[in-house]
Amino acid sequence: MDCLFCKIIKGDVPSKKVYENEYVYAFHDISPMAPVHVLIVPKTHVESAAKLSGDNLIIMQHLTEAAIEIAKQLGIYESGFRTVLNSGKDAGQTVFHLHMHLLGGAALSDFGV
Ligand code: 5GP
Ligand code: ZN
Repeated sequence: MDCLFCKIIKGDVPSKKVYENEYVYAFHDISPMAPVHVLIVPKTHVESAAKLSGDNLIIMQHLTEAAIEIAKQLGIYESGFRTVLNSGKDAGQTVFHLHMHLLGGAALSDFGV
C-alpha cells in the first residue's frame, strides 16, 4: 500500500521521532503550525477517525495516552495543548492514515490554528 505514514512508521521515509510504543509512532510535523506540532499515528493503518468502529476504537485510547505522555515530555502539559483529528476533505485531511495533531507551546490563537 502506498501510504506516506506507513512508510514513516517503517523508517522508509525519514522523520524526527518524538515517541514510540507498541501501538503508536509520533514525530514532528514537517510544516509546523505552532511551536510544538507533533503527529501521532497508530501503527495499524486506518484511513481516518471516521473509519474507527468496534474493536479498533481502542486506537483512540492509544492516541490519547500518547498525546498526554508527549505533552509531558515536551513541557506543554501544564501550559496546555490541543489535539485534532481531521477526517475527510472538508476537514482538510491530506494524508489518509489516521493521525492526531498535538499542538501547543504558545497561545494557539496567535498562530491562527
Ligand atoms: P492532515 O492535513 O492530513 O490532517 O495532516 C497531515 C499533516 O502531515 C500536515 O500537517 C503535514 O504538514 C504533515 N506532513 C505531510 N507530509 C509529511 C512528511 O513527509 N513528514 C512529516 N513529518 N509531516 C508531513
Ligand atoms: Zn498507512
